[in-house]
Amino acid sequence: MHQTHMIIDGEQLPISSHKVETICNPANQEPVALVSVGTRQDARMALEAAKKAFPLWSETACEKRAELLHSAADLVRERAKSIARLLTQEQGKPLKNARAEILSSAGILDYYAEEGRRNVVGVAALITPWNYPVDLLSWKVGPCLAAGCTFVAKPPSRAPVAATEFVRAIYDAGLPAGVVNVVHGPGSEVGAELVENPISRKIAFTGETETGRWIMAQAALHIKRVSLELGGQSPFIVCGDADIEKAAAACAQRAFSNMGQICISVNRVYVADEVAEEFTDRLVHQTERLRIGNGLKENVDLGPMFSNEQREKTKEHMKDALDRGAELLCGGREPEGEAFEKGYFFLPTVLDRADHKMKIMREETFGPVAPIMRFETVDEAIKLANDSNYGLAAYIYTSDIATGIQAAERLEAGGVGVNINNVMDYQMPFGGWKESGIGRELGHYGLESFLEIKHIRLGI
Ligand code: NDP
Repeated sequence: MHQTHMIIDGEQLPISSHKVETICNPANQEPVALVSVGTRQDARMALEAAKKAFPLWSETACEKRAELLHSAADLVRERAKSIARLLTQEQGKPLKNARAEILSSAGILDYYAEEGRRNVVGVAALITPWNYPVDLLSWKVGPCLAAGCTFVAKPPSRAPVAATEFVRAIYDAGLPAGVVNVVHGPGSEVGAELVENPISRKIAFTGETETGRWIMAQAALHIKRVSLELGGQSPFIVCGDADIEKAAAACAQRAFSNMGQICISVNRVYVADEVAEEFTDRLVHQTERLRIGNGLKENVDLGPMFSNEQREKTKEHMKDALDRGAELLCGGREPEGEAFEKGYFFLPTVLDRADHKMKIMREETFGPVAPIMRFETVDEAIKLANDSNYGLAAYIYTSDIATGIQAAERLEAGGVGVNINNVMDYQMPFGGWKESGIGRELGHYGLESFLEIKHIRLGI
């Protein structure tokens, strides 16, 4: 079976030196990999190694750093097939999506290779969740290394395999020992050490808002830099003049891709009264076409959910909505058949007649449910969209560009898609307002978050 080692100071730690856990496939519970469970002591050793490596790496010429990052990107691409397979096996997403995630992560390394030499923050702790374990790590690793910082990464405990392989490929490209380190183990222990230890000067975190709140409070004790990418509750507005067919297809894709376990998933759909029937019919049609199954199979659009906890939370939010008067239009249950018995499968679900009393419209479900609420005016839709503690992404579909731009200005979100269901691009800032986070990743903003500003004044 695959073995996932921690990497500290240029060494892969033998798995036998620690307690070992088995990572299982959420589609069928088959074992995928053995992973060693690290401790606070491992986190300290990794921080010390990153600190020791920092002067060398930060003073390495930017051309050399760029060359190494491009080589690392090439190695990730070369290994993309095997890393993608591990990702599908540990996380559940279809192979085509896993492969796209690995290639996109290699692209991030290339993108940041082209940035220059600056004053840098020092050792960074990079802490990431299970839904995009490689991509979200690459968003941090790329700018961190390009800026000249060293790092200790802590991947999610229950999906550390592909992320560790990604870092190993970077290390194998020839970076000096100690520049890249990976520790495994529980967030409450290993992650907490990375946050609390004064050696780390920057915490780049993606995960739940509650964890982010705690990290921000701890970082305050040493006035550390933080960038926090946290939860979302993204609205999707369909105006009366929208291209309904396109809007429905875009909505289904963004609500159900990765089983709704995306921070920028569509969580609330607001539809103009006059097109609500047509939109709803088309959304149901699009939803029922999605093919669900083991991510390793060909032609699968959706895999299982990542865990039973995620599935139970989805069911709880759905039940709360139905108890409060929502109507179930499709899905709402596990698919039937032997192929689905052992996995955490759930059918993509559309609900109608939702309102803001329901948990599903207020809390982050992180599951494959699209609840629909109707509105009379665009003003009302924007007020409803902004009525949330979160502010990560928002989408609006309209054929009037003025309506789209005015709405984009008024929507309280770090990214707004007008007639497009994506707000992510290597070159553009990504991040949230309100309780969705602080700081920005990607683009030059992502690099700046690893840099210090210094005013040097010469008296001549
Ligand atoms: P968590 O916050 O539970 O965990 C994220 C990471 O933090 C894991 O590696 C976890 O380790 C670690 N961690 C947990 N507790 C601590 C702690 N006290 N100190 C330091 N590290 C800790 O999030 P999930 O893994 O459940 O991820 C899902 C969440 O991520 C959702 O809320 C989603 O919205 C958000 N997300 C946000 C994105 C954005 O860009 N805004 C993008 C993608 C996801 P361990 O695994 O061991 O618990």
